[in-house]
Amino acid sequence: MVVRFINWIKSLFAPSLEGAKAPLTKTPVNVSRSIDKIIIHCTASDVDKHGRNMQYYLYKWHVEERGFSDIGYHFGIDLDGQLLAFRPIGKIGAHCFGHNAGSIGIAVHGKDKFYQWQFDELKSLVNKLCKEYGLTLDDVYPHSAFSDKACPNFDIKEVL
Ligand SMILES: [Zn+2]
Repeated sequence: MVVRFINWIKSLFAPSLEGAKAPLTKTPVNVSRSIDKIIIHCTASDVDKHGRNMQYYLYKWHVEERGFSDIGYHFGIDLDGQLLAFRPIGKIGAHCFGHNAGSIGIAVHGKDKFYQWQFDELKSLVNKLCKEYGLTLDDVYPHSAFSDKACPNFDIKEVL
């Protein structure tokens, strides 16, 4: 993380011609904040009632109902165990009051019934992010650690 931050600072002072060659879409977005924790959520969605489409459900909830600029989590894991990317990691999430600044938010779709393949994907994603940002499992928290909600409604220690 420190190395990436230093590289980012260096890149700010790089000769401007060098930067001009890079396509605009390649502007790095994920190195300008430091990540110190990962927070795990569930969508608390009654899947039978709200449908299986996680992205659609979250868009309606976060963007249309709550007025967020986009879905508040960085990643989602849908009912099939498919990994979905919602927010770029460089953009602060909107998922855990008071703890958004340094965290990555991951939501597992469902309320009280989850599938092993969702947990397998969660474990794989968390391991990758820990490696990428120099974190350990001690830096991974359930939303309930910072809230009186029971979210994510499963024991992350057992899953991870
Ligand atoms: Zn939550």
